[in-house]
Amino acid sequence: MDSVLPGGCQCGEVRYEVRGKPLRTYACHCSICQKQSGSAFGLSAQFPGGSLDVTRGRLEHFVREGNGRGFRCYFCPICGTRIYHQMFTEKGDLPRINLKSGTLDDRSWYKPGCHVWAENAQPWVKFSDEDVVFAQQPKPEEMPVFHE
Ligand SMILES: [Zn+2]
Ligand SMILES: [Zn+2]
Repeated sequence: MDSVLPGGCQCGEVRYEVRGKPLRTYACHCSICQKQSGSAFGLSAQFPGGSLDVTRGRLEHFVREGNGRGFRCYFCPICGTRIYHQMFTEKGDLPRINLKSGTLDDRSWYKPGCHVWAENAQPWVKFSDEDVVFAQQPKPEEMPVFHE
């Protein structure tokens, strides 16, 4: 995979580049990700904070709260495509961003390293024996690190 990964929103107004390799990749089956994606789960790639640059257009964001944290959720103001979110606490931003991996131009390398909130998964979602599955939200250090 390339060290600079371009991506963008559905309408093409917003383009971005993210540098480096993800820290972790995961599928989240929580009800919030189902709502956000309009689908059965969300797909994320965590990168270090500051590794994403918007190269065209601009993002807007809204804030939601949950689990004692805030989430700034960034999206294209024209088509509404979510690009990423950044978590923060009263101590400041957490040192990572959660990119919606489906917005990357090249998704051929992507595979979720684990599944979280599996207890909330749609009943037809079947996990295989090789999948790393967490019933709820694991600590970041419990999640597999990304490897190609
Ligand atoms: Zn757009
Ligand atoms: Zn979720």
